[in-house]
This record gives sequence, structure tokens and C-alpha cells, in this order.
Amino acid sequence: MLSKKILRQVKKADKIDTPRSTIEFLLVASGAKPGDVIDLIKTKKVQDEFKKVIEKTPNVNWFTNTKIMSLNVYYYNTEIVSGEFIEEFKNADKEYFSIYEGILFGYPPCCILSNESGNTIKKRMPATEHYWCSENCKKSIKLQKKYASIVEEYLPKYSKMIKEKSLMDLEIYNLKQIKVHVKKANLKKTIENLEKALKLHLL
Ligand SMILES: [Zn+2]
Repeated sequence: MLSKKILRQVKKADKIDTPRSTIEFLLVASGAKPGDVIDLIKTKKVQDEFKKVIEKTPNVNWFTNTKIMSLNVYYYNTEIVSGEFIEEFKNADKEYFSIYEGILFGYPPCCILSNESGNTIKKRMPATEHYWCSENCKKSIKLQKKYASIVEEYLPKYSKMIKEKSLMDLEIYNLKQIKVHVKKANLKKTIENLEKALKLHLL
């Protein structure tokens, strides 16, 4: 059961930004998701107001990554994400940036790796957002259910949206259309780095 204090902040967030951002914030504040981002496409005003909400929310903290994507405001649940992971993320090299981001956002490792290596079948559902490694990725299905149940309980007005089948996008890209972050030759190093980051995440 979420505290009244957290629910009050979720309601405040709902007045600032889009339903998607409110849902993400609820998931992080409830501890279901490690972290998320108020990205650079948002105005500074929205980011500043969101930061104020975060500061008043127990166990949630924000940071900016000054090295890369300095306009993004990241936030995370301090009970789930270690300070060491955040420091690692801040110092991550550009080529590993998306991996750290994926881990912070709670994407399953199988999906992060599949994305990095340029898998051609992409599926994502509204509650999970990341591109699934396969249509039947067990970890993603579990996340989808978990997130949807939290939304249903605390933000019922968005529960239909989060389960709406029509929102599910099943897209098939060819390799040219996919933004491949890591060259195939670097995949081994990427996996090593992912394992290291995951270990830090669990500290
Ligand atoms: Zn997966």
C-alpha cells in the first residue's frame, strides 16, 4: 500500500506532465521500476516542476548526467538503485549509455542486449515501453502485468490505456532502420559491462 504522501505527489505529477510521465513516476515511486527520465523534449518549466515533486517524494531522487544527455533529468528510487550505480551511469562512455539507461529504467537484460545487437523484431506494450527481445519475452510479460496492476490500483483512470491492445505496437524493422548503438565487434565488451552494471545495480 502506497503512503498518502506518495499518492499526493503522484497527483501533483499528473497536473504537470503527460499521463505517460505520471504513470512512470508512480511506478518509480512505488518501487516497481528503478528509475525513469523527464527527457529533454520537455520544457525546462515542466522539468523544474517535476523536480520539486520528486524532492518531496520519499525515497525518490533526481540527477542529471552532465557528460551525455545533460538536458535529461533522471530520477530513481533510492531503495532500489544504489548510489554507486548512479555514479557509474554518470561516468559511462557514450557507447554504453543506452545500456545504463535501460538498466535504470528496469528493462530486462535480455531485451537490452537484443536491442543493442540490432534484433529485427520489435514489440512494445504501453506499460513497459522498451522494445521486447521477443514476442513472448517472459520478463517483459511479467513487467507488463505488474505495472498494469499498479496503475489499476492507484491511477484507475489510466488503467484502460495501459492495457489497450491497440496501443501495442508490433513493428518489424530492417537493420537499416534500427539505431544500433554498439558495433557487433563490441558486443562482448557490452555484455561484460552490462554484467558489471547489473551487479552495481544490485548492491
Ligand atoms: Zn526480453
